[in-house]
Parts: sequence; C-alpha cells; structure tokens
Amino acid sequence: MPSGAPVALSAGAALSAAFVAGTWAVRGRSSSVFAPSIHRATISRKALALTFDDGPSPATPLLLDILARHSIPATFFQVGENAEAYPALARRVAEGGHEIGNHSSTHPNFAFTRPSFALEEFSRAQTVLADITGKTPIWLRAPYGVRWFGFREAQRKLNLTGVMWSVIGRDWRLPASAVTARILNHVRQGDIICLHDGRGTLKNPDVEATLEAVRRIIPELLGRGYHFETVSDLLMPEELTPPNHQLNGDDLLTPRVLRIIAETQRKDPAQVTIDSSFEELGIDSMDGVNIIFALENEFDINVPDEEVKNILSVRDMVEGVRNLVQTKDTVAGDAPPAN
Ligand SMILES: [Zn+2]
Repeated sequence: MPSGAPVALSAGAALSAAFVAGTWAVRGRSSSVFAPSIHRATISRKALALTFDDGPSPATPLLLDILARHSIPATFFQVGENAEAYPALARRVAEGGHEIGNHSSTHPNFAFTRPSFALEEFSRAQTVLADITGKTPIWLRAPYGVRWFGFREAQRKLNLTGVMWSVIGRDWRLPASAVTARILNHVRQGDIICLHDGRGTLKNPDVEATLEAVRRIIPELLGRGYHFETVSDLLMPEELTPPNHQLNGDDLLTPRVLRIIAETQRKDPAQVTIDSSFEELGIDSMDGVNIIFALENEFDINVPDEEVKNILSVRDMVEGVRNLVQTKDTVAGDAPPAN
C-alpha cells in the first residue's frame, strides 16, 4: 500500500464529513440553516398528523373517502400547478375539513436555484391555493425536502412556516406492505407522517400503494390509541388545543354526499361539486331515486317521499341529508341512557 494512502483517506473522510454536513443543512429534517422548520410535535397526548404531498390528483377522492370513513382530518401539501389542473379536487380537500399546505407551484428541486426563485414559486402557489380552496396556507413543505437560499425570505414574506416530517413512507417507491411496515414500526406520539396523493406534477399518477397503506395503518393506529390531527392542531400550544380533535360530522357530510352521487352516476368525482346541477350531471328522475336510496343507506336515514320532489340540485341533496342526519342525532341524543 503506498505511504500516501492514509493522508488521502483522511482527506476523503474530511470531504465526506463536509458533504454529510452540507446535505444535512439542505435536507436534514431539523436543519434551520436555510429556513426554520418543524418536523414533529412535543405533546403529551397520543396524537399524530397525516400529511399528503404532491396532490391533488385523480386519486385524491379515494383517499378522502378513506379518511372520511374514519372521521380523520389530514393536511395536504398541494402543488399549485396540480390545483390548477384539478381545481374541483383541490377544493374538495378543503371542503372535507382538511388543512391545505403550500408545496410550491411546479414542484422543483430548489438546490442551486437563484434565491428569488423560492419566493416566486411559493408566492404563486399561495395565491393559487387560496383562490381555489378558499384557505390560505400557513405551512410550507419543500419539494424533496430540499430547502435552499431564499427560503427564509420567502417564508417570512408569505407568513409560512416550514414543516418537514418525522416518519416518511417512501410510498413513491415501495409497495404498500413496506410503506405500512415503515410507518407502523417507527411511529411515536407527536409524529408528522409524510405520504403522497400525487407524484410531483404527474397528471395521472399511480398512488395505489399509498391508498392501500392508508387503509391498513389507520385502523391499526386507532387501535393503538392514537388519534389524528391537522398539522395546525398538532403544533398548537397544548394549553390552546381544543378538547375534540375529530372532524365534526358536518365537515364530512358534503364530501360523502358528493362521492355517493359520483359513484351512483359513474362520474369522475372531480366533476361533482355542491354547485353541480342535475342537468350537467345527467341525473334524471330514475337516477335521482337511485341516489336517494344510496344516501339513505349510507347515512341510515329515511328521505320522506314528499321531500323528494323538492330536491332539485346537488346542494338540495346535501342540505336534505344534513337535516335528516341532524334530526336523527337529536332524536338519538334525547333517548334515555341504555343503562
Ligand atoms: Zn413533493
């Protein structure tokens, strides 16, 4: 072995140590060299936050459905360009009671970009997301977890705080079973879990592994005594946290009704909004009856015949179901205790 080898070796070691430190500054979850960000919550309750990046995509309603079934709120770091491509889906996420975060406009890798680029990207997405969803994000997540020069300035100007994650499913690469195992083996109280309902700016991504993993982890984590909160709730100072973190039924009712209408009509869920008319959805009186049957089944309600003729729009359906569900809850709530 040449006598210079140890010197070369230690130069190499120093180089790679510098490289590792540099990588940590750019990608490290706790790094605040470029901009402050948070990756988990220190809390005394058994709460977790589910976060989904890169949406919306045509698969997003399937994910919303799984969350709605368990009354679980999540945080969606949406890509501005995807929200522009699928505005109804972006809006439906917000209407479902979920939180919207800013995941940039075009999902670039910010490494080596000019500092003003960060402000341009997040500012554009901020406007688009607020316009489309009606909710102004307060959290930002860097695409690929890469923060760069200009982030600190962009965050300050846009009033955004960076949020990374403490558990990541690597769901863009791994099969559902591996994603599930990664999460279930690592999760701890206060964790922010990162998954994806899109793939960058791909318009029709395959996110089946994500959906399947979510179907598996939710019942398991609920069984372990965890509950789920939005990022804002999870990071809120504990003394301010409201006692009930579950979405209330009202937030979830609209997306559930819209989903049933889409399923019954075999429509793309993106096409059905609360403002849709029966005409544009091609709903005739026979379809209307089928939808009402499906709604009665889903919500365990009875739509009186005399009410049916007053239902002339999707909005009427949502309101009708809401009234009947509330009446049912009130009646159930008035019943004497079982013991
Ligand atoms: Zn992303």
